[in-house]
Amino acid sequence: MPSIALPSKTLAMVQTAPRKLEAQDLPIPEIGDADALLRIDACGICGSDYEQFAGVLKTPMPVIPGHEPLGTIAKIGDGAAKRWGVDVGDRVAVETMLSCRFCPECLAGRYHLCRSRRIYSYLPLSEPPGLWGSYSEYMYLDPNSIVHKIDPALPPEIAVMFNPLGAGFRWAVEIPRTGPGDTVLILGPGQRGLACVLACRQVGADRVIVTGLAADARKLDLAREFGADHTIDVQNENTKQRVRELTDGRGADVVVDVSSYSTEPVTEALDYVAPGGTIVLAGVKGFKPIPNFISDKIVLKEISIRGAIGVTSTGYASAIRMIESRRVPLEKMHTHEFGLRDAELAIRTLAREVPGEESIHSCLIPGRD
Ligand SMILES: [Zn+2]
Ligand SMILES: [Zn+2]
Repeated sequence: MPSIALPSKTLAMVQTAPRKLEAQDLPIPEIGDADALLRIDACGICGSDYEQFAGVLKTPMPVIPGHEPLGTIAKIGDGAAKRWGVDVGDRVAVETMLSCRFCPECLAGRYHLCRSRRIYSYLPLSEPPGLWGSYSEYMYLDPNSIVHKIDPALPPEIAVMFNPLGAGFRWAVEIPRTGPGDTVLILGPGQRGLACVLACRQVGADRVIVTGLAADARKLDLAREFGADHTIDVQNENTKQRVRELTDGRGADVVVDVSSYSTEPVTEALDYVAPGGTIVLAGVKGFKPIPNFISDKIVLKEISIRGAIGVTSTGYASAIRMIESRRVPLEKMHTHEFGLRDAELAIRTLAREVPGEESIHSCLIPGRD
């Protein structure tokens, strides 16, 4: 079986309780014909990592977090090599979700909604072979993994952006079918909001507007640098009026909500969207009900509302093409990288728990401890 020289153990950060991560040396498992081992080059960190860490998202424990893996194939079964079209030494971006490929959702092409969907980093250490997350030097790749080759010459902290950028393409372009002539309003300037800007620009959207808080000034600057035509500080400007002015009174053809927790953007999106327009809801709100939600506005304006969870292969492929083109200064979005042992600091930095640090895109890079 093709393999690089492998150690017998891997360093992994294991979550044993809410807000408790510990470094452990775990055995590197044997693999079979249909699976593989990945040596992690970088692991992206996103908002849900914080929720998992804090115990808000239900997770079996102990568990290895990390569901945005970029790595190099270290060992692979002949069957997997043939089926996935990759070999030892190839760098790959790994999709987060594992689907069965046979249920009605999978067969309809909605594999991310698979009825027996499993998600990397939410499978416990007790489920063999245990290495289900990428807060680790090595990770196990299940036979149902979906991997995308990506240029090994790219810096790992840039290549690993395939995940947030993929979300930009799926949420702001693929789902609402954004194209030339469209005005897109993006609510929230985090890494996924910025990715939405880049994706909209890539497909020729006419006008891109981004909203954020006063504290998001740096992110809003970056949004303009990435091609947003206008940004709105929702705390110091009248957003409704500004949107009206900027869209000649019509509203935006597409409104994408990537803000988390706050429910106001959902209510307000009904006012921002143009007649016949589409609202994409991609930010989770902790299962809070939406106050003052007036459904008649949906009826009278014939608004389409779509939910978006995760990214699928086409979005990842567009993201990887953008990264490999090297035409976008993505490094401007990258703010922090940490070694594995600093995973907790990484999560707390992202969650604004570390004074003076503002994170946009951050990742773990094994070996940079
Ligand atoms: Zn994520
Ligand atoms: Zn399925």
